[in-house]
Amino acid sequence: MPETTFQQRVRAALHNPKVTHAVALGAHHLVEGRARAVAAFPQMDEFRDRARLIRAHTLSNLDRYLAQFADNVQANGGTVFWAKDAAEATDYVRQLAKNRGVRRVVKSKSMATEEIELNRALEADGISVTESDLGEFIIQLAEEKPSHIIAPVMHKTRYEVAETFHEKLGVPYTDDPIALNDIARAHLREIFLTADMGISGANFAVAESGSICLVTNEGNGRFTTTAPRIHVAIVGMEKVIPTFEDLGVLLNVLARSATGQKMSVYTSVITGARRPADPDGPEEFHVVLLDNGRSRALASENAEILYCIRCGACLNHCPVFQAIGGHAYGSVYPGPIGSVISPILWGLDTAGEMPHASTLCGKCQEVCPVRIDLPRILLNLRAAGHEAGNSPRWLDWGVRGYRIAAAHPALYRWGMKLASLGTRLLAKNGWVKKLPPPLNGWTDYREFPAFARKSFHEQWRERDRDRE
Ligand code: SF4
Repeated sequence: MPETTFQQRVRAALHNPKVTHAVALGAHHLVEGRARAVAAFPQMDEFRDRARLIRAHTLSNLDRYLAQFADNVQANGGTVFWAKDAAEATDYVRQLAKNRGVRRVVKSKSMATEEIELNRALEADGISVTESDLGEFIIQLAEEKPSHIIAPVMHKTRYEVAETFHEKLGVPYTDDPIALNDIARAHLREIFLTADMGISGANFAVAESGSICLVTNEGNGRFTTTAPRIHVAIVGMEKVIPTFEDLGVLLNVLARSATGQKMSVYTSVITGARRPADPDGPEEFHVVLLDNGRSRALASENAEILYCIRCGACLNHCPVFQAIGGHAYGSVYPGPIGSVISPILWGLDTAGEMPHASTLCGKCQEVCPVRIDLPRILLNLRAAGHEAGNSPRWLDWGVRGYRIAAAHPALYRWGMKLASLGTRLLAKNGWVKKLPPPLNGWTDYREFPAFARKSFHEQWRERDRDRE
């Protein structure tokens, strides 16, 4: 997590119109795509219910399915390493790279590798690491972090991408998307063909066969996992599912929720390394099963968060994410899922501000393909943060004051009258443009409506009187 506070990052984001515009546009595009895909698939709700049941059943029997998955990977000739945390996972890959003389690594998109900062660890050993997902490739060239779990470059315009390619790859400036794609493709082809190790994540891990399933739209996942002589998959341990039948259900809801597609362009199922009769493929297949706080989450009241299939729909629909973008969250996991998973994985001391980055409007739960009750978990985490003494003092005093007023109707009524008078005195045409501190946070970036002259209770009483 960065050194800056959440408030500082939010201010920086709101002062950057290029970012807010690009994010709003990108999120809007994905929201519309999902709406279209859902409207065209009348069974969506039924599939969401089934998807939720699969995730609930798997996580209630996670030890059994993980053991089955690991046994089958090994039976297929692969190697499984159980990593307790990020350090164990990165050490395993570093050691493997050292033992096999790896100098160049190519990666497909993987949030688990972002989570454990694998690139940094490998680069510290002098190994070159290249991201092959187009969005991640751009981010890596720009020396930035992804801002969205499925659209890492959502915060950038194509003109910025054009500048980055021109500067970092030394190519003539072009902002034509097809030409930019061609430049990236030509650059990456050489990397795919010369890399010693390919590193991927996994969207799902199928216990009954020991397979991993990768879902991409660019084909880079296939190149990454087949061209180099070693394939390593970093797999969060919650990614396991029992059967291929379950995989079918989850794939049906994943692509529709994520990008509005019926199915992603490339859905690859990988079951071990190259066999003797295979014409190509890696010589070795390693799976790193990553815990890194997931066991702790599973044992908590918030275990439901492990149902997540990382579709990104909750980010796209969140009014807070739409306004500030992903970087403001300060975590590799932004948006509603990030506001929940980050404090669960890294602790409230590190990411305690994040559960407050929500209006609790409930849209995230409404669109989640596995129906995770994100608002409830956000509230649980806020309460836990408060109990740990992390709430700012003004909030504590404010809530205490409200509690006293709410328990004394006369005091409450007078308070509301004063607030109504105050906001009406400050308002122009019914809107307050600037509130005094500490309320100015509201009006720094938007206007505040003046309170009604008469309270709801007064209006209700008048209505009753008029009816008599
Ligand atoms: S919480 Fe739900 S909506 Fe958000 S990324 Fe996970 S599965 Fe998708």
